[in-house]
Amino acid sequence: MAHLTGRWNDVVRAAGLVAPDGTVRATVFAEMSALATRTGAINLGQGFPDVDGPAHVAEAAVAAIRAGRNQYPPGPGVPELRSAVALHQERHYGLRVDPDTEVLVTVGATEALAAAVLALAGPGEEVLTLEPYYDSYAAVVAAAGATHVTVPLRVVDGSYRLDVEAFRAAVGPRTRIILLNSPHNPTGAVLDRAELEVVAAAAREHDVVVVTDEVYEHLVYDEAQHVPIAGLPGMAERTLTVSSAGKTLSFTGWKVGWVAGPAALVDAVRAVKQYLTYVGSGPFQYAVADALTDDDGRTRAWLADLVGSLEKRRDLLCEGLETAGFDVVVPQGTYFVVADGRPLGFDDGAELCARLPDLAGVVGVPVSAFCRDGATGEGFRSAVRFTFVKQEDVLREGVRRLAALRR
Ligand code: PMP
Ligand code: GLN
Repeated sequence: MAHLTGRWNDVVRAAGLVAPDGTVRATVFAEMSALATRTGAINLGQGFPDVDGPAHVAEAAVAAIRAGRNQYPPGPGVPELRSAVALHQERHYGLRVDPDTEVLVTVGATEALAAAVLALAGPGEEVLTLEPYYDSYAAVVAAAGATHVTVPLRVVDGSYRLDVEAFRAAVGPRTRIILLNSPHNPTGAVLDRAELEVVAAAAREHDVVVVTDEVYEHLVYDEAQHVPIAGLPGMAERTLTVSSAGKTLSFTGWKVGWVAGPAALVDAVRAVKQYLTYVGSGPFQYAVADALTDDDGRTRAWLADLVGSLEKRRDLLCEGLETAGFDVVVPQGTYFVVADGRPLGFDDGAELCARLPDLAGVVGVPVSAFCRDGATGEGFRSAVRFTFVKQEDVLREGVRRLAALRR
């Protein structure tokens, strides 16, 4: 394992990845997937589908490779994909963006988020996120030299909700970016319009940029609805909307992402992005453009099936976890459910995750990995995130094994 000597030390420390002997650990997702491989446990940790995305989209990527689209794409992304992103935003949300100046293609959402934070925040400025938060947020805020401020989600009437009072109190003159994520990883919360209005009002009042991570925009269940904050009054001019093809199309390895928003902000992101990767995923960009344009409706039909099936798989896993003795908060979106180990006598989710392969032949991810030390939200220390984006028979076997915890 590596020892770091340079500035990135601050980054790995902020991400909680420095081991007691000073070496740098892999991210919690890599660590838990390796644990599953090593022990032969069922991997309900890292969130990636165990089946392929739509065949017609895969064929479009093959066709792009065969057609020789294999050299560097243009810096902002291929025009076909930028137009498709603009069409997608208009079709789904009535949001208008100019594909030439207001859309930038990135290497997954990860790069878009990193470049946005590096472009817009610096020392002495604060970046506010929800807590828990996706692991890369803490790292890129530290990389920017900015200060990470968090506002907890809390369980209200069986779902995770924004602590509105804490949120209002956390936004101030030093806040530069509100880095939002809805549908939310790891809790599966989908922020509703009232919560987003609180965020929007604070952003307008303090002249803050909102960077919103919407990679799970299409994966919402029951009556929940994804509302893009860019559509709220006065928000289009201060919001960078980030998404990617990974979750929507079940091709997480393609790493095709994008950011859409006002030209000046997108330009700032591009200024950083051009020195991170310059460009990426050339032939896949054409395939994702086809999928988002969706002239024949095949992608829409495929996605509707995926959402229906994920909803069923969510129920299967949630019921199984409850039967096993966990306290479960049923998620309204994403790939994930958060389960509290306290009723089973486990106060420490990280310890439970380390022992789960032995105890039940299953791997999960501790929610504490998505929190800062001394997280303010209740119940995060003892919570474990499980994914339901696995085939039904895999989940059934996982649930059968987890029942052993009760005995
Ligand atoms: N944001 C969130 C909330 C995620 O869960 C993930 C992982 N899928 C990402 C960003 C990264 O997305 P990508 O793989 O497109 O970089
Ligand atoms: N987004 C996926 C998750 O939350 C994993 C991404 C990663 O491995 N960095 O599980």
